[in-house]
Amino acid sequence: MERNSTEWFRQAQTYIPGGVNSPVRACKAVGLAAPLFIERAEGCRVWDVEGREYIDYVGSWGPMILGHRHPKVVEAIEKALQRGTSYGAPTPLEVAMAGAIVDRIPSIEMVRMVNSGTEATMSAIRLARAHTGRDKLVKFNGCYHGHADSLLVEAGSGVATLGIPGSPGVPADIARHTLSLPFNDLDAVEATFLKYGPEIAAVIVEPVPGNMGVVLPHDGYLQGLRTITETYGSLLIFDEVISGFRVAPGGAQELYGVLPDLTCLGKIIGGGLPVGAYGGRKEIMCGIAPEGSVYQAGTLSGNPLAMAAGLATLELLGEAGVYERLEAAGAKLFQGLAQAAKAAGIDVVVNRVGSLGSLFFTGSPVTSFETALQCNKDRFVAYYRRMLDCGIYLAPSPFEAAFVSLAHDPGSLEKTIACAAAAFDKLH
Ligand SMILES: *Cc1c(COP(=O)(O)O)cnc(C)c1O
Repeated sequence: MERNSTEWFRQAQTYIPGGVNSPVRACKAVGLAAPLFIERAEGCRVWDVEGREYIDYVGSWGPMILGHRHPKVVEAIEKALQRGTSYGAPTPLEVAMAGAIVDRIPSIEMVRMVNSGTEATMSAIRLARAHTGRDKLVKFNGCYHGHADSLLVEAGSGVATLGIPGSPGVPADIARHTLSLPFNDLDAVEATFLKYGPEIAAVIVEPVPGNMGVVLPHDGYLQGLRTITETYGSLLIFDEVISGFRVAPGGAQELYGVLPDLTCLGKIIGGGLPVGAYGGRKEIMCGIAPEGSVYQAGTLSGNPLAMAAGLATLELLGEAGVYERLEAAGAKLFQGLAQAAKAAGIDVVVNRVGSLGSLFFTGSPVTSFETALQCNKDRFVAYYRRMLDCGIYLAPSPFEAAFVSLAHDPGSLEKTIACAAAAFDKLH
C-alpha cells in the first residue's frame, strides 16, 4: 500500500520521539499535521512520498550548495564506496580534505575532522578552555551552535522555534559558565569582559547568524569582538558551520576580513554526508591528542564517503565564477521577493549575503534575536502554507534561513517569486 506523509508520520511517532530525528523537522511551528516525508531529490527539487514536486530552499539546512545529487558528487561517493565504507585508520582522502580546508579558510593552519557541527563546536570549546585554562564562554542570543550542554543557552534554530530558553538536562553548574549576550551589541560584550574578562575562555559566534533567520553583523562588530578577545587573552571562535564555503570561498572570515583563533565547519564540507571540522592556528590545534593532551576522538571521523562527497563539493566550488553565480541567484530571488511584497503592501525585511537569506515579516530592521522575535509569526505561517501549496519547500520556521543553490535556475526562482506574490496578496 502506498502511504502518504500523514500515515508515515503516525507510524514514525510510535517509534521515534516526536516522529523526527531533529526537532524542527516536525513542522510544528507552521502547524502542519505532518511534515513532508521525502522520497528523493534532484537539482533544486525534492519529491515527497506522494509524488509531489517542490522547489527546495531547505537544502538539507545548508549542505546542498550544488543542488541535490550533483553528478560529480555522486560519482565521487560511488568511487569511494567501491573501495570500502570505513576503516578506522588514516586515508589519503582525509589528508586531501584537510589540505583543501587549510588552503581556503584564511585562519586555519590545522584541522581535525569530526562527524557533525555539534561535535565541532563542542570540541573547539573544550580546546579553548584547555588552551586558556578558563571556564567561561560568551555566546549570543539566537546563535545556534549545535546541542552540546554549554551551548543550549538562549540558542537559535529549533530552540528558538520551540520557544524554550535552554534545555532540561543541562546542569545549572554547566549553564552558569555560559554568558549569552545580544548580537550586534559591542557595549554588552565590553561590559561582560570588564566584569568577567580574566575568566572568559572564548567568545563563540556565528559571524553571519543563520539560525535566528539571517542577521548581518554591523560594520566593525566582528572586528570589535576580535579586539576585545585579544585584549583579554580569550579565544575568538567563528562557528562557520553555515557560512563556511557559503558566503565566500573562505567563509565569513574572508568576507569581513576578521580572523578568529578557531573555526568550526560542517554542512557544505560533507556534501550532504554527516561531517564537521574544527581548525585554527597550529599552536592551538597542537593541544589536541595525540599531539597534545586535550582528548577528542571519533570512530567514523574522516569517513571516506563523507570526505569524497565533501572534496568533490569543494572542488566544484573552486571553479571560476561560482560565487558570482550564487550571488546572482540569491539577489534575483530576494530582490524579487521584496518587490512582490512591496507591490502587495506587505512589510518585509530581507537580510541576505550571497545565496543565504531570510525574509522577515516586519517593517523594522532585524539585527538581533530580540528584533527577529518582533516579526509577525502568523503571517509567516500563512505565507509558509501557501508557498507549500504552490510547490515551494521552505524551512518551516520564521527563524531559519533559505538556502539557494547553484541548481536553482532562473525559471525556478521566477516560479518561487510568482508563488510568493500570490501568497503576499492573500496575507492582508
Ligand atoms: C547546523 C549548525 C550546527 C550544528 O551542526 P550539526 O551537524 O547539526 O550538529 C552548529 N552551528 C551552526 C551555525 C549550525 O548552523
